[in-house]
Amino acid sequence: MAEPTQTAKVLSVTDLTPNVRQLIILPKPQKLSFQPGQWVSLKLPVGTKPPLNRAYSLATPESPSGELTLVFDRVAQGAGSGYLYRLRAGDELSLSGPYGNFVLPKPLDRELLFVTRYTGLVPVRCMVKALFAHREAPPVLAIAIGPAEDELLYHQELLSLAVMRASFRYLPLVASSEESAVGLTISMLRPLIEGRPKVLPMLCGTKAFVHPLRSWFTEAGYDRKEMKTETYD
Ligand SMILES: Cc1cc2nc3c(=O)[nH]c(=O)nc-3n(C[C@H](O)[C@H](O)[C@H](O)COP(=O)(O)OP(=O)(O)OC[C@H]3O[C@@H](n4cnc5c(N)ncnc54)[C@H](O)[C@@H]3O)c2cc1C
Repeated sequence: MAEPTQTAKVLSVTDLTPNVRQLIILPKPQKLSFQPGQWVSLKLPVGTKPPLNRAYSLATPESPSGELTLVFDRVAQGAGSGYLYRLRAGDELSLSGPYGNFVLPKPLDRELLFVTRYTGLVPVRCMVKALFAHREAPPVLAIAIGPAEDELLYHQELLSLAVMRASFRYLPLVASSEESAVGLTISMLRPLIEGRPKVLPMLCGTKAFVHPLRSWFTEAGYDRKEMKTETYD
């Protein structure tokens, strides 16, 4: 059976950093119900065999208005992100979903450790927003690596949250390549993990970032079932 698709209207276009853009869209026929961390599949009218399907995580939890927030970086020669960069307010998109299991674990009985590179922060930002909308929130450490200082996503928002909420810790890092991001992350993780009670790692980014970190956690004694990962490629 074909997956049900629906149309969404672009309400606004905002640049969050020099190379990351946000679209607020409104699905027209019906509101989309989703869990923080999930993604939608866009059907884009580009490529050699349109539609080109591209997944984008939802950056903001479900809202009464039904608006959805998509945040993406400009991929060099990327057909999908290139098309999204050409969209303007009033344009329409076709999408299906929500999909995905990169969502908050239940029960939440350990400290959550989010480790993300660049737009890998998008689903995590959604989960953090949902968690800290409540007075009681579990301990969370978010390590977010950006490719440059001016490409750190949601930096002010996360800094402010860390000031306001004692159970939220935020560690922003800058590393130009995925390889250097992995090395830097591991050097930061070692003192935070070794000899301490187990945390719940949730890793998001491209495979070149996520897979070596997952292997590192395995070597540190974590079972695959004790971590969650989302890869973008
Ligand atoms: C579950 C899921 C959720 C996703 N959520 C997001 C999101 O919220 N925001 C977002 O920007 N992207 C997200 N992506 C990636 C997105 O679907 C596209 O792959 C990305 O925009 C590149 O598509 P493209 O057609 O422009 O380039 P392509 O030509 O398809 O990509 C070229 C190469 O770029 C690399 N790549 C993939 N994703 C990215 C990326 N985001 N930044 C840099 N390089 C990348 C890969 O190595 C890929 O092989 C998600 C992917 C998945 C599977």
